[in-house]
Amino acid sequence: PTVKEAPPVVAPRRTTRKIRVGSVDVGGDAPVSVQSMTTTKTTDINATLQQIAELTASGCDIVRVAVPSADDAEALPIIAKKSQIPVIADIHFQPKYVFAAIDAGCAAVRVNPGNIRKFDDQVKQIAKAASDAGVSLRIGVNAGSLDPRLLEKHGKATAEAMVESAVWEASLFEEHDFHDFKISVKHHDPVVMVQAYQLLSERGDWPLHLGVTEAGPAFQGTVKSATAFGALLSQGIGDTIRVSLSAPPVEEVKVGNQILESLNLRPRKLEIVSCPSCGRAQVDVYELADSVTAGLEGMSVPLRVAVMGCVVNGPGEAREADLGVASGNGKGQIFVKGEVVRTVPEDQIVETLIAEANRIAEEMGEA
Ligand code: SF4
Repeated sequence: PTVKEAPPVVAPRRTTRKIRVGSVDVGGDAPVSVQSMTTTKTTDINATLQQIAELTASGCDIVRVAVPSADDAEALPIIAKKSQIPVIADIHFQPKYVFAAIDAGCAAVRVNPGNIRKFDDQVKQIAKAASDAGVSLRIGVNAGSLDPRLLEKHGKATAEAMVESAVWEASLFEEHDFHDFKISVKHHDPVVMVQAYQLLSERGDWPLHLGVTEAGPAFQGTVKSATAFGALLSQGIGDTIRVSLSAPPVEEVKVGNQILESLNLRPRKLEIVSCPSCGRAQVDVYELADSVTAGLEGMSVPLRVAVMGCVVNGPGEAREADLGVASGNGKGQIFVKGEVVRTVPEDQIVETLIAEANRIAEEMGEA
């Protein structure tokens, strides 16, 4: 059998230490993973597990749940046991919930040292408990909850301030010979965020969790995250990502996966190559592209489908794709693997493309 060449990437991954988040490796040669966070009350176990199942189905690798109260901590054992993907407990204020999450069987715990007062006293116990249980941690530095000392020193949450915080927190764990943690330095401003991760990546080999925090509603958050993650991943920086959107978490996962697919950091699945349309278009390209995308949603095979508005670039792109249409004169020429297989009236283009796509997927054995 022929060995398929790996698709090109913009830059080689930077070498980081590998840690485990349950069954998912993060850092080292592990693929960049996609995370999201549930929006349900963690105490509502059924709703939380339902949302985790939806996230898993959409391609999420690791899920985080908020643990703001004792009741939430009590829900963790069942959630950790029943989730199909590793669960990270997100803990901001109470060290005692860190121990509860470790005991509950969570794969990892996110701690926010800036928020956990008297944290210093407990680092040793947390490191020991995590180490004994094989649980990893994330040191999650966030611009909005930076240690007051650093805010005072730097005037505001600059990239340098966040990195200083992260490196210091890391050293607290390293003093106790605990190294199973990743770090995030999140800021809502993609420029500051990119600078922070660049600086941090020069300071150590910790695996890095990328995030633009409070990135905003879906459109703005998608653009901010894609821009910032693209800048960093293109320098080989970043081992796991979370897109934060004011939108359902499944959308975060879709965006995260699409970012990784775009950079060839995850195998591409369905890819629609559609033209922007122009004065030459002889068909409603937007509607055609939307209908084909909707009709093929969820397809798991790598398939490039070209939807082109006219015969200028149409046949060329359609030929390059696995499947395509070049429209003109009220008709659509349907291409499969570079050959015109038929010409159909305009109103049959969508159904023909979907039928052909399903047939090809079946042939690939993954429909
Ligand atoms: Fe315009 Fe045709 Fe190009 Fe689409 S394929 S942008 S319609 S020239």
